[in-house]
Amino acid sequence: MSRPISTVCVYCGARVGNKPIYKAAARTLGKLIGEAGLTLVYGAGSIGLMGVVARAAIDAGSEVIGIIPEHLDEVEITQHGLKETIVTDNMHDRKRLMFDRSDAFIVLPGGLGTLDETFEIMTWAQLSLHKRPIILVNQDGYWDSFIRLVDHVVDEGFASAENARLITVVATPEAAIGAICGTPASEGPAKTDLI
Ligand code: AMP
Repeated sequence: MSRPISTVCVYCGARVGNKPIYKAAARTLGKLIGEAGLTLVYGAGSIGLMGVVARAAIDAGSEVIGIIPEHLDEVEITQHGLKETIVTDNMHDRKRLMFDRSDAFIVLPGGLGTLDETFEIMTWAQLSLHKRPIILVNQDGYWDSFIRLVDHVVDEGFASAENARLITVVATPEAAIGAICGTPASEGPAKTDLI
């Protein structure tokens, strides 16, 4: 029997960006995650959009799991009030655990760390190591150039058109939650031994 998606990982900036809309989108996403009864998995920080999502999710009743490498505990200032805080030895273990604990991934605006996390989860899907949904929230066109880059890679013959469809692009946090709510979680073999 399939079970619905219950745990969602959010990748997003450790900064809030220049436009108020980014913070607003993070707040909305956290609130919707809580209202949908989903558990949030994220990087455990209290700063940037990460902290905004987490606090909004906690306020809306979500259980929040934060995963942070020891060396970033002071830099990203671990958020209080999480249901579970997991401290890892390094970045790789953090990303791996964030993957292991999540049924789906939602990407908000963010910086290089967010890009790294997004490309990594896409490449694991490209290698058929998992089939979990990856939703890119293209809030106010923030990810337009990312989408163009992926299309360029396909156009130039370095990835298949199917690879470009590994991400679902939506315009708003509401659409991101709509895309995963009620969706069965992929029980497909996550080949975690190969990650
Ligand atoms: P950023 O998008 O650069 O603001 O970073 C967002 C999150 O990604 C932060 O929690 C960073 O610690 C994390 N991060 C930064 N660089 C990396 C990396 N190379 N691999 C994984 N996570 C990273």
